[in-house]
Amino acid sequence: MINVAVNGYGTIGKRVADAVVQQPDMKLIGVSKTRPNHEAKTAVGKKYPLYVIKESKKSFTDAGIEFEGTVEEMLDGADVVVDATPSGVGVRNYELYKGMGIPTIVQGGEAKDSVESSFNARANFENSIGKNLVRVVSCNSTGLARLLTPIEETFGIDQVRVTLIRRGADPGQPGKGPINDVILDPVYLPSHHGPDVKSVLPNINIDTLALKVPTTLMHVHVVNITLKKDTSKEDMCKLLSGESRIHMVAAEEGIKGIAGLKELALDLGRPRGDLWENCVWDESVSVKDEEVYLFQAIHQEADVVPENIDAIRAIVNECGQGESMSLTDKTMGMGMGR
Ligand code: NAD
Repeated sequence: MINVAVNGYGTIGKRVADAVVQQPDMKLIGVSKTRPNHEAKTAVGKKYPLYVIKESKKSFTDAGIEFEGTVEEMLDGADVVVDATPSGVGVRNYELYKGMGIPTIVQGGEAKDSVESSFNARANFENSIGKNLVRVVSCNSTGLARLLTPIEETFGIDQVRVTLIRRGADPGQPGKGPINDVILDPVYLPSHHGPDVKSVLPNINIDTLALKVPTTLMHVHVVNITLKKDTSKEDMCKLLSGESRIHMVAAEEGIKGIAGLKELALDLGRPRGDLWENCVWDESVSVKDEEVYLFQAIHQEADVVPENIDAIRAIVNECGQGESMSLTDKTMGMGMGR
């Protein structure tokens, strides 16, 4: 049994904690909070052992929220820590984890050069086996790595160009925007997202550009790939349909955008309306000789969650890629009726 601590119980941390609890080979030994907010109360309600940073003990006591101890005490019993604190904090926290000899997984907000290995289960699971500090790449890079890996394996890739239409904020961030703009983010081209994908797929030529728009639901990628070998739409769709973390959706079934996808996730009874899979629109897949075009949607709050679970197994060398991904897919209920 792998004892897992989750430091930082926010958007990503609370989802990773729920997924850890579903794994037969993992035990959630604690989650941590800095503030006594509704998420802290929910963690207690779910009977997750709650730990707090030393400086916040009084505020939790004043709020009447019971906790087990401090973050340091939580880490005492951990085989692995998943750090899901805000960007930049994770790598700073690593000094503490390293001092205690605990293998650490941080998130995509940390710089790629600050870790031993960047991780995507489909692209490079083996690279993180037995490492001490592993970074699960960002939601956008996760979505692109899942798409590009099977295409590279099957047809070879000359060049990828992606426009990322990014959600302005997560639903729980009412103070962030834009609310009436399309922001060039960043304005320089190509954007930093391509190099981030290369941290897990170093041999792919990829250029990206990114815009931020007024939605909280999901990102949309406009993808153009130049293949090494030509193919047909049928073969491309067959390949993508065979991937457990890619779901083909159809506009003709009424899913014409990301609101339709959110409705689908809620109809399926997904926790928090989460879509862990990339969603690729069947009708959008256009293939002419070596050129492929498609649209895919990425649920930013959700797609990195199964990857964190696989990263835990990789870092402690529990099992191989295929076994880990199948177990994660089965326990989380990936597949949407496939
Ligand atoms: P968040 O702000 O929703 O959650 C962070 C949590 O960490 C909060 O509960 C905060 O109180 C807590 N925290 C802050 N400082 C702490 C500390 N020193 N010790 C313990 N807890 C602390 O952030 P998030 O969106 O979950 O992002 C976490 C990481 O995941 C970032 O690296 C981010 O880039 C990455 N990520 C986020 C998304 C997304 O869409 N939200 C997607 C993929 C990856």
